[in-house]
Amino acid sequence: MSVLVTGGAGYIGSHMVWELLDHGEDVVVLDRLSTGFDWAVAENATLVVGDIADEALVEDLIRNHDVDAIVHFAGSIIVPESVSDPLGYYLNNTVKSRSLIETAVRCGVRHFIFSSTAAVYGSPDSFPVGEDTELRPESPYGTSKMMTELMLRDCAAVHAFDYTALRYFNVSGADPDLRTGQSTKGATHLIKVACETVTGKRGHMDVFGTDYDTPDGTCIRDYIHVSDLVNAHYLALERMRAGGGSLVANCGYGNGYSVLEVIDAVKAVAQTDFDVRVTGRRPGDAVAIVAEAERCRRELGWKPRYDDLKTIVTHALKWETKLATRNRQ
Ligand code: UDP
Repeated sequence: MSVLVTGGAGYIGSHMVWELLDHGEDVVVLDRLSTGFDWAVAENATLVVGDIADEALVEDLIRNHDVDAIVHFAGSIIVPESVSDPLGYYLNNTVKSRSLIETAVRCGVRHFIFSSTAAVYGSPDSFPVGEDTELRPESPYGTSKMMTELMLRDCAAVHAFDYTALRYFNVSGADPDLRTGQSTKGATHLIKVACETVTGKRGHMDVFGTDYDTPDGTCIRDYIHVSDLVNAHYLALERMRAGGGSLVANCGYGNGYSVLEVIDAVKAVAQTDFDVRVTGRRPGDAVAIVAEAERCRRELGWKPRYDDLKTIVTHALKWETKLATRNRQ
């Protein structure tokens, strides 16, 4: 029996692979390496380079490796890019997920874990935001993920199949043992960008808007450590295997930090100053989004271990430093 991880050569996927291996699972990774890296995949996992919508390939993998569960990370993840390329996002995130789900159902895969996003909520009227809040995505990225959640819901209602959709808040940090981390080229995420500015990969960084209706005028997010996040996936897998059924749950800590607070944390951890420039708002950004985090703890027995902004930043910065050294060699 094994677990198929799509997008397992990417940032969160490569952490998931380690989480599964650490729990003694057999792991097959399917990744087309468009943004991921083969070297990010743990040696003890089987890497297959290919597309999730290649139904013949996926069917072979499921049968040859006796796959009982799929953890689906493959997809496109940049909100502003989705605004300029909606059809690309609906293809990668919605249409291809549909193919994968169809193959899973046809081959009798019982369990499916889906990487969803807080972007399905758009700009909620208040926070923290609970799972039953109306879904009002404000970007094609958020809509593309919401549509996949709905397909899973409808399939679980009629097929011998259950799913867990985990709605990620702002995932950051790296494996504390630095076995993997965020290596994506052209990264746009705040903590990664700030760490790249510390290591000198960037000469400066921008703050996208200081005129929001928040205490310091910058957007507020709930940053979650990637190792805690993948642990929630493992617990979700155990829960489904034990017959717990389908679940939709937020993955965040319930703590909100502004862009300026995050930048200050990076400066404090790095013990250095760097060039930060205020610029205009970025399209598609919600003003504030913080998780109501109880369901994940209650349903999965999730106990976060790295619920602390400085710890997240410390691990992110250590990884960035390792990456900078690696890339110079
Ligand atoms: N942000 C910023 N400068 C950057 C990257 C991000 O000011 O170089 C802001 C962004 O506008 C948003 C917050 O940081 O308000 C979090 O953005 P990120 O891209 O990390 O995650 P998102 O919430 O968009 O998924």
